[in-house]
Amino acid sequence: MEIQPNPQLLSRDDNSETLPSGKLEGVIKRYLERTGFREFCPKAVLFDMDGVLMDSMPNHAIAWQRSMASFGINMSKDDAYATEGARGVDTIKRMVKAQQGRDIDEAEAQMMYDEKTRQFGMLPKPQIMDFALQLQEKIHHAGLQICIVTGSGQRPLINRLLEEFPRVTRERLVTAYDVKNGKPLPDPYLAGMKKCDVEPWETIVVENAPLGVMSGVASNALTIAVNTGPLPDSALWDAGADVVLANLKEVCEFMSL
Ligand code: MG
Repeated sequence: MEIQPNPQLLSRDDNSETLPSGKLEGVIKRYLERTGFREFCPKAVLFDMDGVLMDSMPNHAIAWQRSMASFGINMSKDDAYATEGARGVDTIKRMVKAQQGRDIDEAEAQMMYDEKTRQFGMLPKPQIMDFALQLQEKIHHAGLQICIVTGSGQRPLINRLLEEFPRVTRERLVTAYDVKNGKPLPDPYLAGMKKCDVEPWETIVVENAPLGVMSGVASNALTIAVNTGPLPDSALWDAGADVVLANLKEVCEFMSL
């Protein structure tokens, strides 16, 4: 597939003096400079789940706060957004070490994460993100593969994704349980590329969280950030995003789909 510039986006960042431009040619040029690749030929789009396909981050923030409080751990909603994308058990190990000075093993962290999962399950079902289904249809019809790469271990939400997104399959799904090293390391997105049998210069990552953007960038995929949460755009640019857009409709326009 060949990506063409979309004139509607050309004025997007004209008022910004400090942030890179969101213009397509510039984005690809910067991407090639960053990676040293000679070309960019997209064949697969790797999607994060929470905050990209599912509007689930507000619920996650509440569930994190409530569940960790029950273990004497103070975790604010801002902490939940700042650590989004990491494996839940890794976040818990870090919080316990920082606040209680204890090193806990995987089993204890998993037990605490199970409580977070229970709290999450008690909240109303999150909505599918606006334009997520339409974007995946357009990507599919453009001949690109679709893969999901999430740090989540929330099986009910992952199952909903499989049920409600026609283009999502188990064969093209990487979850917290498939990789040892989670975001911000590149391993999850590299695992997604392997599932699609594509190289980094053939891959687009769509992410919403700074740690997830860092993972996509470290994997050398062209990394699109969609800022669907409360963080400033600069948090996503600073994480290394190749472009920062406001929502999935803008992703569609950016890719000229
Ligand atoms: Mg996310």
